Amino acid sequence: MAKNRDAARATLENLYRIFTVPEAPDSTLGAIDQAITDDVTGFLQTHIVALEHSLEKIEADFSSSQIPEEPTFVSTYTEFVQEKLVAQSVHTAAPGFIGHMTSALPYFMLPLSRIMTALNQNLVKVETSKAFTPLERQVLAMLHRLVYQGNDPFYRRWIHDSRHALGAFCSGGTIANVTALWVARNRLFAADGSFHGIAREGLARALKYKGWDGVAILVSKRGHYSLGKAADLLGIGRDNLVLVETDDQNRIDLDLLRKECRRLQEEENIHPLALVGIAGTTETGNVDPLAAMADLATELGCHFHVDAAWGGPTLFSSRHRQLLDGIERADSVTIDAHKQLYVPMGAGMVVFKDPTALSAIEHHAAYILRHGSKDLGSHTLEGSRPGKAMLVHAGLSIIGRKGYELLIDLGIERARTFAALIRQHPEFELTSDPELNILTYRYCPQPLQRALAGAPAAERCRINKLLDQVNQLVQKIEREAGKTFVSRTRLRVPAYGGKEITVFRVVLANPLTTYAILSEVLEEQCAIVQQPEVRSLLDQLESFCLS
Ligand SMILES: *Cc1c(COP(=O)(O)O)cnc(C)c1O
Repeated sequence: MAKNRDAARATLENLYRIFTVPEAPDSTLGAIDQAITDDVTGFLQTHIVALEHSLEKIEADFSSSQIPEEPTFVSTYTEFVQEKLVAQSVHTAAPGFIGHMTSALPYFMLPLSRIMTALNQNLVKVETSKAFTPLERQVLAMLHRLVYQGNDPFYRRWIHDSRHALGAFCSGGTIANVTALWVARNRLFAADGSFHGIAREGLARALKYKGWDGVAILVSKRGHYSLGKAADLLGIGRDNLVLVETDDQNRIDLDLLRKECRRLQEEENIHPLALVGIAGTTETGNVDPLAAMADLATELGCHFHVDAAWGGPTLFSSRHRQLLDGIERADSVTIDAHKQLYVPMGAGMVVFKDPTALSAIEHHAAYILRHGSKDLGSHTLEGSRPGKAMLVHAGLSIIGRKGYELLIDLGIERARTFAALIRQHPEFELTSDPELNILTYRYCPQPLQRALAGAPAAERCRINKLLDQVNQLVQKIEREAGKTFVSRTRLRVPAYGGKEITVFRVVLANPLTTYAILSEVLEEQCAIVQQPEVRSLLDQLESFCLS
């Protein structure tokens, strides 16, 4: 009995220590902590080592579903972290990792994240986040001002207004888009006479009240998949997310958009709920004609949302911000902080032109989020939330408008340089010109480019099918080698009769990606093409070049 009691007491003491005593600097965890503090770039470079491990192999290290029964030493656990987690991670900060929207972070985000974690504020309510709540409201006002250029009195009036919010801070662009469309939906079906509003009565009654058979969200084919989730979640239905064809530059075709709106209304009795313009398409980085879309939305009397999850920070650039002209007329705008604001994963925002718009989704509870409180949780989809706004605030303060401008300008310049490099290269073909800092291209040697230009449709199709396989394989081999990384997607390219082809996708947001690294990417791909597996595919293409 006494023995059991002693053991229990020891466990209790250890638990107490877990909550109070920091790790000694000479412990494994302490050493890692120090290494990250001293040189995070070096740490990632030396500790992410198992780049070529297959996912299947890694899964084997995470296969037990049993919750460990006995407590273990932190040092034991740290070994697991080092060997299985860090070693087998993806080096997203590597300057040759140019395939996705995740890149290097400014070093100060790390220690600041630790402070944020230490404080562990919960932004849902002021009772758990004094200082952080006003800070988040300030950040939302800053982003609102970036988009809408309101004046000082406007922001003085609204920034800390207890009954309203200029926007919602959330975990990313997906929730931001859902929130925007949620607001649009609830505003369209607001309480009116005997109808108590969609929030109370639901979509079926709302549609009946209006006499419509449905509502639709219209966006170009390049729209982000989060809009499909939103249409599903909001009860609108994925079939009513209408994807409109794009022009040669991957921008929404306005004539078709207009026609589609008319057809929905006249033939299907479906009312347009929202038009969504994209400022920086995820795959090609193009910007829709926002001003013209704003005109159409006004004409239709529907919500105009701009998904600027990627391209929003282009507004920092005096040289390039005019690409987004018309964004200031949007009813709502999504901007991801964990993309071009260089904040760690898990931060996005949506801002609303009308400071009262978010009232459409307002929720209250008895113990928190009381009427008149400044609790942010009354205007967000998410409940408990971390103080990530602090990191956005840090970026905006430390990097500043001019710093972000430089990052944006350099990214766009780098994309143009890379595009020029690809155009000049005898073995590659540029498949979408960069408007922002995203471009696509593929492996397609010049003789094949010439063959394609003169080939009849059926033959062109055969050549492209084989080239698709080549490019898919090159991307896979490159990824597995782990030196550099580009992603891949399928894209409709006008030159090839509007058929989709497989292309490499490049996102140039890491300021450490040099010209030399870009050349290396092409060199590596040329080397990969010489591997027998790829060669045999290319041999099949040889005959097309001779004819
Ligand atoms: C990244 C992105 C999203 C989704 O954002 P998450 O942060 O991944 O949820 C939405 N729209 C566009 C245009 C994006 O680039």
